[in-house]
Amino acid sequence: MPRVASRVHRPSSISNRPGACVAVLLAFASAAGIAAAPSDARGSDAFARELLKQLIDLNTTHAHGSTIAANALAERFLAAGFAPGDVVTLAPPDHPTKGNLVVRLRGKGRGAAVLYIGHLDVVEAKPEDWSVDPFKLTQKDGWFYGRGTIDMKGQDAAMAASLIRLKQEGFRPERDLIVAFTADEESEGDANGVDWLLKTHRDLIDAGIIVNPDGGEAGMKGGRKLYVAVQTSEKVFLTLGLTATDKGGHSSRPTTANPIYRLAAALTRLGQLRFPTHLTETTKLYFARRAELETGQLQADMRAIAAGAADAAAVDRLSADVETNIMLRTTCTATMMDGGHAENALPQRARASVQCRVIPGESAESVARIVRDAISEPSIAISTITAARPSPESAPNAALIRAVESVTHELWPGVVVLPEMSPGATDSSRSRSVGIPSYGIDGMFDDLDDGRAHGRDERIGETAFADEFEFTYRLMKRLATSRD
Ligand SMILES: [Zn+2]
Repeated sequence: MPRVASRVHRPSSISNRPGACVAVLLAFASAAGIAAAPSDARGSDAFARELLKQLIDLNTTHAHGSTIAANALAERFLAAGFAPGDVVTLAPPDHPTKGNLVVRLRGKGRGAAVLYIGHLDVVEAKPEDWSVDPFKLTQKDGWFYGRGTIDMKGQDAAMAASLIRLKQEGFRPERDLIVAFTADEESEGDANGVDWLLKTHRDLIDAGIIVNPDGGEAGMKGGRKLYVAVQTSEKVFLTLGLTATDKGGHSSRPTTANPIYRLAAALTRLGQLRFPTHLTETTKLYFARRAELETGQLQADMRAIAAGAADAAAVDRLSADVETNIMLRTTCTATMMDGGHAENALPQRARASVQCRVIPGESAESVARIVRDAISEPSIAISTITAARPSPESAPNAALIRAVESVTHELWPGVVVLPEMSPGATDSSRSRSVGIPSYGIDGMFDDLDDGRAHGRDERIGETAFADEFEFTYRLMKRLATSRD
């Protein structure tokens, strides 16, 4: 990227706000000399690919930060005719490389804004592990390779190209359409863009509904498109510590109080623990719709659990499969352990980390109580290593599901729209926890048996990327037109 003469832009929405934190507003380039997006559909596809290449070619891993990508996209929006006051780049004062970009397409003011969010940072990639350069877009055999193609620069490019396409069509939404491209999602870093914007610039991104393509999933198997998931909730991350202690002594005089044995026995009991079945509004819908994709016994079991009519045998069968089990209940599993201090000494301490993924709505205290009962060893202390950050379920809003269904069926007839609770966490947990209903929605089909996000040779099909762009464009337009 050539460096262009820059200026500091300070939008009135920030500087006039009393008590607002003074952000480092990133300098960005004037629009001069940058090609605007072509407005015909084929040209738009080429433009989306150009944005994808630009983003992949910028290394935005934790060490490098996202400011460079925020600035690059800002130039594109200015070149496309967005008013400078509607293209805001900003970073926390103490993290100038962790830049964010917020762009607004102004509507008629009828209803709270629709906000799309997408992180600009990517997970580290070691070039020696890859067959191509991870930080350079490589087009090969119908695929685009590069770090971030599916997580989530592909989606970022689709969002940016869609918003620019809407602007150039002269589309005036009923309500404002905002896209925030944000920093520091992957590393659990201390400059997470969504968190920081919500805490210090809420006015800039305040919205009635959030769409976060990072949390969505479009599932495909063996080339067959199966479903577009609407992620309404995420399991909550909680890490407990289990510690057994003893006075220790010489290893020549062993006793049954040895903390390593006591802890090991407790963990073995924990390994047998099955939390109570706990279905939410989302997971009931998930099983009802997922059943449409299955056959035979599995289909019958899913229908039964969705209807609240599953018998013990059906619950056992569903629990035997890892992917289904995690939708049914909270889980806790041992992830690390250490103990003892010398090979010829009785240990004084043994400790294990137990990672729990908690169904939204269950408290950390109730989870710890169930763990305590399961290990059945009162002398073992249970502590919190990483506290839960509670994040409620966003109701599976019927109007939203209908909008996703209509766009999905226009593009891919027969594909099921599947409300989903995801086992992992995205930035949506942050926006849900401050009360903004947030949905993970993504139309980028990826093979369920070949997941490469965070892995080597991350890639997206050329057609899947073009489809994602069309899906994003149509859904953005529909949501900003509706007043629900
Ligand atoms: Zn991601």
